[in-house]
Amino acid sequence: MSLEGTYDSANIFAKILRGEAPCIKVFEDDDVLAFMDIFPQSQGHCLLIPKNVTSRNLTDFPTEKIGVCFTAVQKLTRAVIKALSCDGVIVTQFNGAPAGQTVFHLHVHVIPRYANLPLQPHHGGKPADAAVLREQAARIAAAL
Ligand code: 5GP
Repeated sequence: MSLEGTYDSANIFAKILRGEAPCIKVFEDDDVLAFMDIFPQSQGHCLLIPKNVTSRNLTDFPTEKIGVCFTAVQKLTRAVIKALSCDGVIVTQFNGAPAGQTVFHLHVHVIPRYANLPLQPHHGGKPADAAVLREQAARIAAAL
């Protein structure tokens, strides 16, 4: 079942962490990597993933690492607000396929919301323009 199971080291985020797949990075340190979601639900949609773990979701993530991970989520969220002047931000993560999870390495979504602009569907459509994502990542990184 997707909520519990064996960590698959071939998942796309594990590949990104190993440098085997590309990402448009916002920031990284010894514990986390933040990068742009290539199928953004809004302009500036970022993902933050912990390093050095084999955690499929929040439930199997080492408790002692939660503080470090969510401190980084807060740092990223503040930078997104400052860089993009959004009107709100969704900070969320999904546990198990029925909850909407599709990549089984723990990750947190930071999704800016803009008044009167609809949210795009989760997993929808084509990948975003890489040049646009790079420009957003640079602005967010500069606001850290
Ligand atoms: P989940 O559905 O598991 O909560 O979120 C997975 C997220 O990863 C989705 O928002 C999806 O758009 C994003 N995603 C899937 N594949 C890739 C990829 O190869 N690169 C990046 N940057 N994001 C991805």
